[in-house]
Amino acid sequence: MGKTMPLNTIRTNLFTTKPVLSAAIFGLMLGMVGCSNSSTTEDSVETETTEAGTETEQQAANDDGATSADGQTITIYSSRNEQLIKPLLDRYTEQTGVKIELVTDKTGPLMARLQAEGQNTPADMLLTVDAGNLWQAAQQGLLQPVASSVLEANVPAKYRDPKGQWIGLSLRARTIFYDPSKVSADQLSTYADLADPKWKGKLCLRTSKKVYNQSLVASMIEHLGEEKTEAVIRGWVDNLATDVFSDDTAMLEAIAAGQCEVGIANSYYYGRLLDEKPNFPVKIFWANQGTTGTHVNVSGAGVVTGSDNPDGTLKLIEWLSSDEAQGLYASSDKEFPVKEGVDESEMLRSWGEFKKDDINVQKFGELQTQAIQMMDKAGYK
Ligand code: FE
Repeated sequence: MGKTMPLNTIRTNLFTTKPVLSAAIFGLMLGMVGCSNSSTTEDSVETETTEAGTETEQQAANDDGATSADGQTITIYSSRNEQLIKPLLDRYTEQTGVKIELVTDKTGPLMARLQAEGQNTPADMLLTVDAGNLWQAAQQGLLQPVASSVLEANVPAKYRDPKGQWIGLSLRARTIFYDPSKVSADQLSTYADLADPKWKGKLCLRTSKKVYNQSLVASMIEHLGEEKTEAVIRGWVDNLATDVFSDDTAMLEAIAAGQCEVGIANSYYYGRLLDEKPNFPVKIFWANQGTTGTHVNVSGAGVVTGSDNPDGTLKLIEWLSSDEAQGLYASSDKEFPVKEGVDESEMLRSWGEFKKDDINVQKFGELQTQAIQMMDKAGYK
């Protein structure tokens, strides 16, 4: 709808409404957050469909919703890939009549914007990936606590903030991928084993700047302790076949191209590649099955502190945890449901059952700074 709005209407909104005043401040804040927290500024692949200009139009549309003051518009600041998340939100609108405005950007800028806008924000909900990001948003006071028996029933405690400031809504596994023409599954075991010299010149990794790797390393610090984890990271760096990659898809394609034999990536990137190329010549291996289980992380949401409609927003989050929405996450996005007993898609089932790490994902936030410092010290770029 924003796209059909005449340009002069957009201009009027831009120059007369409060969110835009804060856009200037937002520009300043952006630099600050970027410096203090590298982890939240790079959801590159999550926002691959974002177009410059879209946000301005959406912003103008938001203001219309806000002035109607009927509580029927929910504005979401989202770092999720719009194509993936939109079908779920459209379904909610169909069922309830509640209008949803989606403002898509990377997590870092969205959080800076929420900081700058404070109580004047048009946002009701933050939707993003990784417990490390959600934890940061809560730490910065951007999210408000909610209590919901629906969420308590649908989302296991290990996948949500104990105070209800954020709630995990889908699961992704970060695990090992390999080239089956060079490696057999019985040569693989744990993330730590990829530090063994037998993998010298054979390992590919994504950059340590990505929050996914920070969370993985945080989980290793929790399980193995600092000293062992640092030794593992040094081993990984020694084993690298090539420079670190900027995203998981490029890393998986490097395995397919024979540039490396093993690597670590999130499961849904692999799922999306398999959708495009059913014969994609890379296999998935569930890491740490004999030990702590495969590392899983969440995408999730929280009610924004300055929301004008916290009750309506909570209802939407509750719906996202329902059987119907959880099934859609699995089928459209190749993610795993957080809710137990919901059917996984055929593709996910074909990857086989696996033991998930039981760690409370909140730890990824708590240990994030330590993980970043450790990777830096160990030379993992
Ligand atoms: Fe991602």
